[in-house]
Amino acid sequence: MGDREAANNRCERLTRLEGLACEWGASRAATVATADIVVNDAFAELCRLPDCPVYGLSAGCPPHVGGPFEMRKLLTRYQRAIVLKIDVPTDILLSEERFSVYRVLHEIVAAVEQAAVEKGFSNARAFAGGSCKRIFCADHPDCSVLAGAPCRHPDRARPSMSGYGIDVSRLMNAAGWQMSWITRNTSAEEVPMGALVGMVLVG
Ligand code: SF4
Repeated sequence: MGDREAANNRCERLTRLEGLACEWGASRAATVATADIVVNDAFAELCRLPDCPVYGLSAGCPPHVGGPFEMRKLLTRYQRAIVLKIDVPTDILLSEERFSVYRVLHEIVAAVEQAAVEKGFSNARAFAGGSCKRIFCADHPDCSVLAGAPCRHPDRARPSMSGYGIDVSRLMNAAGWQMSWITRNTSAEEVPMGALVGMVLVG
């Protein structure tokens, strides 16, 4: 296969992965260059107590992930990532209902990762917003991985993007989208929609 043919083939596979992400529930999906992905140590710091009550409680969250240091290294080994988002009404993001949407987000990035592997991106790696402890294992006293056993949800749960210091606002900009900052003080009337974001490093 010549260079141009290989590039076209890769482009077609990436477009197909974007389409699958949307078929599986993403509102939008896009391919970005990893050179446009920004890592900021300060965002990973927000995963610490008291900002995040589940700090340290899962294998997918700090301090059990490689954090910004590992992500910067990873980004040098990949050229492209599929970024996807789920648009979510702000009042749901500010309620306990958000965890069911986070669950869908993790399931989509995990499925896109698997599809990417099947399409030849053998080193595909997925990440998603939110802690898998709260999303999948809230009813368990501990994370089974941290207790020395396999993950209870290896086909669904993926590491926290925040724990790696990914700048989600700039990631969304790289995908051509605008981010609305939602905090617990956000008025749903003034900012009616937000989004949950995930990404899959593909190759
Ligand atoms: S066992 Fe639960 S908390 Fe631990 S990594 Fe898997 S999904 Fe996350």
